[in-house]
Amino acid sequence: MSFEKNDTIAAISTSIGPGGIGIVRISGPEALAVADAVFIPSGKDKPSECPSHTVHYGHVRQPETSETLDEALISVMRSPRTYTLEDIVEISCHGGQMSLKKVLNACIIAGSRIAEPGEFTKRAFVNGRIDLAQAEAVMDIISSETEKAQRLALCQLEGGFSARVEEFREKLIGILALIELALDFSGEDVEMPSGSGVLSEIRKIARDIEAFSGTARGGMMVRYGSDIVICGKPNVGKSSLMNALLKHERVIVTPIAGTTRDVVEESIILDGVKVRLSDTAGIVDTEDRVEKEGIRRSREKLSSADLVIFMVDSSSGVTEQDIGIYNAVKLKKNVIAVNKTDLDEKVSAGQAAKIFANQDVVMISALKKRGLEELERAITKKLFSESPLPSGESPVIMNARHADCMEKAVSAARKAMETAESGGNFELIATDIRESAHYLGLITGKTIEDDVLGRIFSGFCIGK
Ligand code: GDP
Repeated sequence: MSFEKNDTIAAISTSIGPGGIGIVRISGPEALAVADAVFIPSGKDKPSECPSHTVHYGHVRQPETSETLDEALISVMRSPRTYTLEDIVEISCHGGQMSLKKVLNACIIAGSRIAEPGEFTKRAFVNGRIDLAQAEAVMDIISSETEKAQRLALCQLEGGFSARVEEFREKLIGILALIELALDFSGEDVEMPSGSGVLSEIRKIARDIEAFSGTARGGMMVRYGSDIVICGKPNVGKSSLMNALLKHERVIVTPIAGTTRDVVEESIILDGVKVRLSDTAGIVDTEDRVEKEGIRRSREKLSSADLVIFMVDSSSGVTEQDIGIYNAVKLKKNVIAVNKTDLDEKVSAGQAAKIFANQDVVMISALKKRGLEELERAITKKLFSESPLPSGESPVIMNARHADCMEKAVSAARKAMETAESGGNFELIATDIRESAHYLGLITGKTIEDDVLGRIFSGFCIGK
């Protein structure tokens, strides 16, 4: 591994900004010596003389000038029962950047160096306390925005996910051992594993990995949220619906067509999943340059959306323009919202379903806030129809890197299965099984290159 095991690192581990307390964390063989240099205890024991897992009151000082920097509590945690498995000292001082920066600077003067992003967690991984998927779960817990996402990330941190992946990997290695035995002893007087026995083992593991890989859609939806775009001709009530779903006035609503010139994005939680709602500029032909740019951005949003709410104005009836816009979005998962039902209802749900050949029609009034719950139900039903949301009880894939590795593992296992089914040779099968196991190993970090590791941890925040 690329990092220097013997140095001592320090960083501000709480977020920067005014706060009741802030924590500077120090980890490494010199953590206690650094603490001795910067901390004046109110009692008689220096940090290095304190028992492990104890907390002490005192003051932090600048080691060169002895200037008092802040009042603090320190937690002394000795190796190996710590986050990194190394000696750790945490200095809890006043929150706010001046105190924290001064305390961190004192620790640097006393011999530690500033930690890189994610370096504490990287050490926890390199020192063997957690595997890579668990390390990534730490980041997911920090960044989770919904209760569901946090619960899944916690399940991953606790190791259930890694255990499942390891179980698959070990089974593949078991099959590999059988094949290698056959290759090594072919021609000798040893009992050979039967081809059909190996085939059924490969079939079973390929199926199991594939089924697990299928949890990625729902898991990633919980982890990353999903994107919904509201579209329809100008003045159908897109901004009004956005405000109604958000339950506050976020978007300017006026009766003048083309008011929304840019894509406005806000989030709501639906069924425990973060949903980013975009209110797009009406997709119409225009000569206005600003409006044109808004429309270009709308189209971009549309192409990456998980679902589209297509709106029609029931008081004006369905027009050619509505049909034109619908044709541009109908290949996306969509729900049709017939709005302004408080006015003259020229379009019924049945008519809309017929015109657009789509049964997912909800009658609403964004202005009077009618039909919104029904619309939300229609949205969640459609959005989560092919990928049921994980309950949090069994492990699922919720990270894009894991999903990518898993997909490659599935494809290699499938290749092995196809070769075995067509009676192909053991060496080819072994190569694919080895590849499949390799990709599973990348998930938990059993097989991982330094640069990949660097990339993963550089996405972490400083101090974690
Ligand atoms: P957008 O251009 O599609 O974003 O439409 P807006 O949300 O800006 O609404 C255009 C006009 O229609 C505004 O005057 C709204 O108050 C009005 N409007 C929106 N929804 C409704 C509704 O459900 N009923 C009625 N009567 N008027 C609505």
